[in-house]
Amino acid sequence: MRTFRNYTLPSHNLLSILFLLTFACFHGHDVQAWSKEGHVMTCQIAQKLLEPEAAHAVEMLLPDYVNGNLSALCVWPDQVRHWYKYRWTSPLHFIDTPDQACNFKYQRDCHDPNGVKDMCVAGAIQNFTTQLSHYKEGNSDRRHNMTEALLFLSHFMGDIHQPMHVGFTTDEGGNTINLRWFRHKSNLHHVWDREIIQTAAADYYGKDMDLLRQGIQSNFTDGVWSDDLASWQECDDLSTCVNKYAAESINLACKWGYKGVEAGETLSDDYFNSRMPIVMKRIAQGGVRLAMILNHIFGDPREEQGLLAAT
Ligand SMILES: [Zn+2]
Repeated sequence: MRTFRNYTLPSHNLLSILFLLTFACFHGHDVQAWSKEGHVMTCQIAQKLLEPEAAHAVEMLLPDYVNGNLSALCVWPDQVRHWYKYRWTSPLHFIDTPDQACNFKYQRDCHDPNGVKDMCVAGAIQNFTTQLSHYKEGNSDRRHNMTEALLFLSHFMGDIHQPMHVGFTTDEGGNTINLRWFRHKSNLHHVWDREIIQTAAADYYGKDMDLLRQGIQSNFTDGVWSDDLASWQECDDLSTCVNKYAAESINLACKWGYKGVEAGETLSDDYFNSRMPIVMKRIAQGGVRLAMILNHIFGDPREEQGLLAAT
C-alpha cells in the first residue's frame, strides 16, 4: 500500500528557511490564483452541497468571525503565501508541466522549482485531505492545524481546476505572456484567473457575483451540465482523481488557453465568448468536487476510508 507523502507545517518552515537563505532571489509565479471571485464561487458552490455531517464539521473548524461562511476564507492561502511563515506553501498553488507536452505526470511534474517532491497543487490536495481525515479521531496529531488544512484544501481545489494553474514551465502558466484584454494590459494567466470572470459578471450579471454564481449553479442543477454531475463526483481513489483534475486542466490550457495566443496581441470578444463557458464549468467542477471530498472526509467513516484507502 502506498503511503501518503506528508509534509507538516514545522518541517516545511524549516525547509522554507533553508530555501530562503539559498534562493533568496528566486521568485516566480508571483501572481498565481483564481481571482478572489473564482475561489469565493467555488467554495460557495461546495458549501451548498455539503451533507449535514460535513456541514457541521466545516462550521466547527471555521473561526467564529466568518459566521460559518467558508467562502469568506477561501482566498486566505493567497493572502498568506508571501508571509514568511507560509512561504513554503507558495509552490502548492500550481503545477509546471514541460512546455508543449500538454499532459500531466505526477512523478515528473509534482515538485517545487527546487525539485522537492509533492510540492505542487496535486500533492497539496492529497496531503491536506489526509490531515483532515484525522479530524474525527480528535486531537491525535497536534502538528496539523485542521482549520488551516480545510482552508488550504478548499483553496487548492479551486486552483487545480483553473486550467492555467497547470501550465507550461517557461511562461509560468501564462504569467509571462503579456497581452491586452480588450483595452487594458494583462497577461494570459490573469485572463483565466480574473478577466474572463469579471467580464462575464459585467456583461451578463450587472457585476453581481451572486447572480453569476447562481447562473453557474443552475447549469448543473437543471441545466446543460446536469447529466454530467454524477461523473464529476465520481472518485474511488483520491490520488487518481486529483491527477485527473490536473490532466483536465493542462488539456484545457493547451486546447483553449494557449491556443492561437501570441504575446503582445489583444484578446477580446472571440476569445471571451469561446472561453467563458470553460471557466464557468471549471468553477462548477471545483465546487462540486470539493464538496464530494469534504463529504467523504467528514461523512460515513466507511466511505472516507474508501476514498483514501487506495491512495
Ligand atoms: Zn492559489
